[in-house]
Amino acid sequence: MNLKPCPFCGSDGFNHQGGIICSNSDCFMFNVCVSEQFWNNRPLENDLQADIGDMNRENIGLKSILKALENIDDYKMQGHECYAKHVLLSLRDRLKRMERGKK
Ligand SMILES: [Zn+2]
Repeated sequence: MNLKPCPFCGSDGFNHQGGIICSNSDCFMFNVCVSEQFWNNRPLENDLQADIGDMNRENIGLKSILKALENIDDYKMQGHECYAKHVLLSLRDRLKRMERGKK
């Protein structure tokens, strides 16, 4: 398992008598020996990464909806009112599904 940087000062951690301590002697983790699993445990960071992934997926979905919305006026101008309405309804449906997916 690769060691992450010290969660408090960002310095490297290293093995010390079967546990991990911080290499920075000014950091309090220099005097605290913890398991490798504990050292690498970053629950908040992991949650934030998951949130960023969710937001990126949502952003991709919203961009595609926006792009489709931009085309609706073109359909209307070309006399395809019915198709424009159909596209709009399907976009609303997609948006609703996205909203439900978040919960
Ligand atoms: Zn440290």
